[in-house]
Amino acid sequence: MTTTVEPAVRFVDLQAQIQSLQPALGDAMAAVLRRGDFILGKDVDEFEREFAAYCGVAHAVGVDSGLSALELALRAAGIGPGAEVITQANTFIASAGAVLAVGARPALVDCDENGAIRPEAVKSAMNARTRAIMPVHLFGRICDIEAIVALGDGAGVPVIEDACQAHGALLDGRRAGSFGLASAFSFYPAKNLGAFGDGGILVTNSAEIAKSVRMLRSYGQKTKYEHVTLPLNHRLDTVQAAVLRVKLPHLDRWNARRQYLADAYREHLADVPVRIAPADAEGRHVYHLFVIETDKRDGLKAALAARGIETGVHYPIPLHLQVALKDLGYRPGTFPNTERLAARSMSLPMYPEMSLEQVERVTAGIRAYFRG
Ligand SMILES: *Cc1c(COP(=O)(O)O)cnc(C)c1O
Repeated sequence: MTTTVEPAVRFVDLQAQIQSLQPALGDAMAAVLRRGDFILGKDVDEFEREFAAYCGVAHAVGVDSGLSALELALRAAGIGPGAEVITQANTFIASAGAVLAVGARPALVDCDENGAIRPEAVKSAMNARTRAIMPVHLFGRICDIEAIVALGDGAGVPVIEDACQAHGALLDGRRAGSFGLASAFSFYPAKNLGAFGDGGILVTNSAEIAKSVRMLRSYGQKTKYEHVTLPLNHRLDTVQAAVLRVKLPHLDRWNARRQYLADAYREHLADVPVRIAPADAEGRHVYHLFVIETDKRDGLKAALAARGIETGVHYPIPLHLQVALKDLGYRPGTFPNTERLAARSMSLPMYPEMSLEQVERVTAGIRAYFRG
């Protein structure tokens, strides 16, 4: 008897995209090597202009990671020791890490049943020490940002969007990142727009914030060897900017493909006992991750792994229960929705080059598991 072993379904596979953009990617990198403008070179300038235009904002400042973009946004907004910054408990550690980096305290709040930060929770967490609100467009879905900005405006507190998973997402014709005082994007390779290493960008409509972050990212330098603020180095590499310039024109098409694959997942899982957060207004969700929820999460995950299907969990340990944040003093049980999602959610393979057939292999594996 012969058995055919099907190739694995990877959680994310970057190779197809890299191949599809050759020779343009190689040419763009080779041009940087020829020019030798490795630090804050031509492609950084151009990419900043192109990404700002794409987001519909006035300024963009390239930095070395999403975390740096968040941290420098807080620094430029004057946030430091004694301040509280409200963010959600169900997110990647960077959101809270940026707050800690400037010496402020992350004030965590619970999410709704779909994982989105709740404006009501933000409102109840606001107090005299609140200096910023940092909502996350988690998994690629724009949160209730208009309500949160309205809360911030009412209290004179700026909103800094963590848009690190939401490149290109649209709400009422506006891009993620264009609502707050400043916003952060990450170009970690597996993000919807990814570099070939670390990278990030801050976008803002404030000329003052942009100017301040330009100094902060490069040794607090005002003119050559004149340093006027904290001397940090958080610059975006020119080589990464060259790669990102080749990729940016394809982002909308890639996001549309993610939305198409998400619709296919929904359709094939309609009668399976897993919970999927409802689809939203067109364009609001760009599916950095496609997340399902089940109380049989660990069993299902193992069954799919046995079929060569990779899955992820975003995130297994909520921020308030992380050892790194134990000094904040939160206890288990504080954020019920966050804790329920941490125990039950699971992310399915998702990347634009994934085929419909691969989606069907994943959903067939899920259906087989629940048939028992
Ligand atoms: C990826 C990510 C970041 C950090 O980006 P890096 O480039 O890895 O520093 C911050 N917040 C969220 C929600 C992210 O997903």
